[in-house]
Amino acid sequence: MIRTALVTGGNRGIGKEVCRQLSQQGLRVVLTSRCIMDGEEVARDLRADRSVDVFAIELDVSQAESVSRCAAELAERNIAVDVVVNNAAICPSGGVLDVDDATVEAALRTNLGGPFWVARAFVPSMLRAGYGRVVNVSSRWGSFDGDLGGPVGYSLTKVALNALTVKLAQEVSGDIKVNAACPGWVRTRMGGDGAPRSVEQGAETIVWLATLPRDGPTGGFFRDKRPIPW
Ligand code: NAP
Repeated sequence: MIRTALVTGGNRGIGKEVCRQLSQQGLRVVLTSRCIMDGEEVARDLRADRSVDVFAIELDVSQAESVSRCAAELAERNIAVDVVVNNAAICPSGGVLDVDDATVEAALRTNLGGPFWVARAFVPSMLRAGYGRVVNVSSRWGSFDGDLGGPVGYSLTKVALNALTVKLAQEVSGDIKVNAACPGWVRTRMGGDGAPRSVEQGAETIVWLATLPRDGPTGGFFRDKRPIPW
């Protein structure tokens, strides 16, 4: 059976690599991007590289209406989503005392609101189908064990994303797995050129969680395919 995976922020960075790896494993990939032209261009590139099933849909995760529109478009096309990778995120600078409200609100809407609305849009049909994989791309900076490093808008929203992972995992049953992944420090626009990891390395644990077997873990936080503390 061919599974369908939806990836947010699939147009560049780790998300693009997750789309590439999942499609190469034979999944149909819904590459979502807030700029549909970017998404279509990347989907075209991925299809040109190998004969894979990847197509683009517009999705701005910071807008609940955009998530609803994306879900409606897929339903209209009779496409059921089996796997969700909540990858899209922003990392705006600023500390508790100097960041402005709008910046924190944008980070909350993108890094937490996005995964929350996407889960509410797609997990109910996973429950009906009895199969689903949700991967929330988190960070060491969202971990108390990782000292909550980084700007406040980022670390607070990744902590909350970790909590969302646990809450959602508690609510689902059957062969539905909900996990969080830390990709490590990766060379992307967010991670910068000095990061030690390639996007291929960053995507590995995410892809592993997206394709877990029935006896795989749920409700956990993973780096390099191993559990790490929250
Ligand atoms: P990136 O290169 O900055 O890419 C971020 C992606 O998110 C882009 O596709 C961007 O789209 C998309 N995005 C941002 N806001 C969006 C919105 N409102 N709606 C839809 N898409 C949106 O970042 P990355 O390094 O690949 O990061 C991917 C994930 O890994 C993130 O969750 C990040 O927190 C996590 N992570 C990264 C590192 C690292 O070292 N790179 C470390 C730990 C965790 P546009 O092109 O439209 O902006």
